[in-house]
Amino acid sequence: MSSCIFCAIAAGELPADVVHRSERFLAFRDIAPKAPVHLLVIPVRHVASIAESAGLDADERAEMPVFIAEVASRAGLDEAGYRVTTNHGAHARQAVFHLHWHVMGGAPLSETM
Ligand code: 5GP
Ligand code: ZN
Repeated sequence: MSSCIFCAIAAGELPADVVHRSERFLAFRDIAPKAPVHLLVIPVRHVASIAESAGLDADERAEMPVFIAEVASRAGLDEAGYRVTTNHGAHARQAVFHLHWHVMGGAPLSETM
């Protein structure tokens, strides 16, 4: 099994509540949600964080924002709104070192996050 938990989820080696997928991206529910709707979007190919996004190919770069918006729309977040964030490194408290976007909504979110 992959030593990276999100690679293992992408490979189907670890279970996840998958809500949407494409050839290049996967969206699943965060295991410890910080909002009523808290989804994670990952590239299937391992990239450690946004700081390593030069490692994404042209197709991945082009699809990423479109895929994130599609995931939010499918989750019914378009009208009320949602937040998309990614963490890099210690100050951001990145815990999983496979690039992921948090897609959060379903209620008014913290002003300070
Ligand atoms: P980070 O701080 O790295 O941006 O966020 C990592 C996120 O991954 C956290 O919100 C955490 O709850 C979530 N997470 C960690 N391990 C798992 C897991 O095994 N499955 C799922 N679905 N989410 C996870
Ligand atoms: Zn990985």
